[in-house]
Amino acid sequence: MVLEAGRVAETWRTRRWDSFCLVTPNWSVMLPGGSYAGPDPEGFMPRDALIAHIESWAAGFRPPVRDHTHISSLEHQDGGFQLETSAGRLLARTVVVASGGYQRAHLPPGTKDFPQDVTQLLAEEYRTPGALQDGAVLVIGSGQTGCQLAEELHLAGRKVFLACGHALWAPRRFGGHDLVWWLLESGFAHRGVADLPSPKARLLSNPLATGRDGGHDLHYRTLHAMGVQLVDRFVGAEDGKVHFGEDVSATIAAGDALSAVLKKWIDALCEKRGLPIPWELPPALRIDGRTELDLAREQVRTVIWTTGYRPHFDWVHLPVFDDMGFPIQVAGKTNVEGLYFMGVHFQRKSQSATLYGVAEDAEIVASHIVENRR
Ligand SMILES: Cc1cc2nc3c(=O)[nH]c(=O)nc-3n(C[C@H](O)[C@H](O)[C@H](O)COP(=O)(O)OP(=O)(O)OC[C@H]3O[C@@H](n4cnc5c(N)ncnc54)[C@H](O)[C@@H]3O)c2cc1C
Repeated sequence: MVLEAGRVAETWRTRRWDSFCLVTPNWSVMLPGGSYAGPDPEGFMPRDALIAHIESWAAGFRPPVRDHTHISSLEHQDGGFQLETSAGRLLARTVVVASGGYQRAHLPPGTKDFPQDVTQLLAEEYRTPGALQDGAVLVIGSGQTGCQLAEELHLAGRKVFLACGHALWAPRRFGGHDLVWWLLESGFAHRGVADLPSPKARLLSNPLATGRDGGHDLHYRTLHAMGVQLVDRFVGAEDGKVHFGEDVSATIAAGDALSAVLKKWIDALCEKRGLPIPWELPPALRIDGRTELDLAREQVRTVIWTTGYRPHFDWVHLPVFDDMGFPIQVAGKTNVEGLYFMGVHFQRKSQSATLYGVAEDAEIVASHIVENRR
């Protein structure tokens, strides 16, 4: 059985903003038996279309879902597992924890140091520009979500400040293909944790781009050109002032360096297939970003935190987690017999917690369970 705290596709229903659409193209929705087959493969499904897609996929094979069933504890019991759920206690021989790769919003220290009259929101609490207090908005965190919200708020006529971090970016389309095609074909999406400079590199953002209005480039240069004020990393807040790092240009350059790594993969693919090099990194972007923001003077009344996610498996009372809170597993299988994970960021590959990578992992986990049926 499938236990679900909310409803099928819950995260897309309740943890995304109103205008949300996929960052990845429709053709890359490759759920097992639920690939996109609509009329716009190069398009980007809006939130409600994606929910409808997942609903009709589930209706097609009718998995035994028990919705509105929250699991508060999972532990060992007589060679199997005991689960405490909002619908009572359950026993299981095999458990697959598939509670999402982007579970808990990560917040740096300092959130308590903002004035009371400034509203602070997590990305998953943001819905639409009109629902915010009037005034300017400070978005803290420049991954895919932060950049998309900064663009949306700017287009809605808000003055927007974006506190930047190190983020990989690339053009939306180049060499006749979407960015995600290049990620897959070049092997970049197939990198495992061991291929990264350190396990911590798992926390870096996915490449910046957007699916909004049919998809377009969205990164530091596009945001700067449209008038979003880029500032360096958030350092802290005090007496109504927010402090940022000293050198936003260096932070942007660090993002460019990550893009250069991706570019090497793309260039290697082109060399192998005899294709022309489709994309060159532009010259460095130099900005005199401010290091301090007086919230009252700039009329900033809303701060949106888009500083990434961390694993959250506090309810899994089994010794299978590393010091960052990620499950210790190989292809989804843990050292505890009968316990598996699915949809963990970098479970097998960088693509593991995406709509284009999950099917491969699911097949491996499902086969292992069937072959080792107890
Ligand atoms: C802002 C954002 C944008 C994204 N955009 C894209 C994109 O464009 N393309 C793409 O491929 N991927 C995207 N992703 C990644 C996306 O999360 C995954 O592709 C997809 O949601 C993974 O599905 P999942 O079922 O593994 O996890 P989730 O969708 O997170 O589902 C996990 C489910 O577990 C349930 N659950 C959690 N804890 C418990 C509990 N204790 N008891 C019972 N139920 C529980 C939740 O209610 C939820 O329904 C995005 C992620 C985020 C955060």
